[in-house]
Amino acid sequence: MTHHQPGFVNAEHSGQGPTPEGGTTSNGAPIENDRQSLSVGPDGPLLLHDVALIENLAHFDREKVPERLPHAKGSGAFGVFEATEDVSAFTKAAAFQQGASSEVILRFSTVAGEQGSPDTWRDVRGFAVRLYTDEGNLDIVGNNTPVFFVRDPMKFPNFIRSQRRTPNSGLRDANMQWDFWTHNPETAHQVTYLMGDRGLPKSWRTMNGYSSHTYMWVNEAGERFFVKYHWHSDQGVENMTNEEAEKLAGQDADYHRRDLFDAIERGDHPSWTLSVQVMPYEEAKSYRINPFDLTKVWPHADYPLKKVGTLTLNRNPENWFAQIEQVAFSPSNQVPGTGVSPDKMLLARVFSYPDAQRHRIGANFTHLPVNQPKVQVNAYQFDGPMAYLHSGSQPTYVTNSYGRPWADHEGAVENGWEADGALVRQAYTLREDDDDFSQPGALVREVFDEDQRERLVQTVAGMMGACEPEIRERVYAYWRNVDQSVGERIQEIAEADAGSEHVPGAEAPADEPDALVEEPGDAYAGVR
Ligand code: NDP
Repeated sequence: MTHHQPGFVNAEHSGQGPTPEGGTTSNGAPIENDRQSLSVGPDGPLLLHDVALIENLAHFDREKVPERLPHAKGSGAFGVFEATEDVSAFTKAAAFQQGASSEVILRFSTVAGEQGSPDTWRDVRGFAVRLYTDEGNLDIVGNNTPVFFVRDPMKFPNFIRSQRRTPNSGLRDANMQWDFWTHNPETAHQVTYLMGDRGLPKSWRTMNGYSSHTYMWVNEAGERFFVKYHWHSDQGVENMTNEEAEKLAGQDADYHRRDLFDAIERGDHPSWTLSVQVMPYEEAKSYRINPFDLTKVWPHADYPLKKVGTLTLNRNPENWFAQIEQVAFSPSNQVPGTGVSPDKMLLARVFSYPDAQRHRIGANFTHLPVNQPKVQVNAYQFDGPMAYLHSGSQPTYVTNSYGRPWADHEGAVENGWEADGALVRQAYTLREDDDDFSQPGALVREVFDEDQRERLVQTVAGMMGACEPEIRERVYAYWRNVDQSVGERIQEIAEADAGSEHVPGAEAPADEPDALVEEPGDAYAGVR
């Protein structure tokens, strides 16, 4: 079945060769030939006024928009989110009221690779959800991991560059990755997750999604709660081995993209159960872990999951570029009853995502069908490149005397919080259980089984061959801080492979964490 936009010919024709309708210029006028340019005689020069040729080439030169940096490689599909449970005690958001149903788009991606890079490289996966709700678009732009590498947005561009390519060779570089990670010990939780089995999902359908960030919910009475969103795959979590992933990277770089598209095409519609962890507003002030630090989870025992509803993907894109490449997510897209939190990474993304979309697609990216909310818009942004949605002859300013409505709320905002203090450069105040290694330690000791731990050891040790001795030493110390025996095993295997006899620091006792690097000014740096 071919879907098409109004104004475009419906190409049901399946034969070969020219058709009676023929091609047209983008202006809609018939062109004589879609295959031959106009020249002065068959052997003569081309002509600048050959509109068909010039338009064809000039548009081709502009056929792509800049790829996302990061999350360039991905794909997605449309579907529906159905709120099946009563969570009205925590949020008044219309989309989360029991029985509500919203159209959704979900885009999956890798993080570090460019367009065309293999889907099966070990990486975190993006899990970006948009609900087209009756109150505007709600975007929950997360990953397949519940935490992130850094907690301060100043580090983000540096982190991404360390995972991409070297300035001289343009090659990916394990040395550079581990250099960054070991200089920033708050990465340990996410790195443990990434080097574990879930760093290589079998398919997008068989992985979970997490908001990772802490968001806010507000109920009808104005009571505030902090929440974390969890999307659990109803297909179950399944991963692949390093060997399978490497093989597939060669055989089919688009393996995950194909898997999702084919599943939906054959009517095998994947679904995810949405649950939230809910922390009452006041509790956040004294909880033993800073609830806004993106490198930490909220343990389930403290904040159990509450089910909200189900998301099902049931419709493939009709046009990949228009609907997937140009979909522009942002955590700034919140609706009444939801909001952001003092999570510094989230606050930075609220700025940076729409900024990136303005650069990538254009200032009016919200005018594209995939980005348009399903409700009426009354925004006072005016004109700009490719303006399509407009307010006719209505006033373009507030305050106006001509009847165009505007907002005029003064005072406290319902999804806000209190903040006070001197201006400082410091990522959060340290709390009782805020350290960088306890949670990754729990992950390897209490969540991973023996086989999973061994696979993690093999994966990390396997990367050490590409690292300089000094970086390797820091890597071993980093892992000993996560788990003494895991660190020792990584060192043993990697150094046996490297043929080295002695690595300083190998004798560090279990109860005395290894020093990594000094990071003056970072309240969480090093080991506690
Ligand atoms: P729990 O035992 O209650 O939770 C452990 C969770 O780990 C599981 O619910 C599951 O999350 C996830 N998990 C299971 N297998 C793996 C795996 N192979 N790789 C990665 N994650 C896996 O303990 P806590 O809540 O106290 O958390 C302990 C540790 O578990 C944390 O330090 C964190 O690293 C990890 N974790 C915690 C999550 C949370 O939000 N509390 C979420 C995910 C991981 P799921 O059901 O989401 O698949």
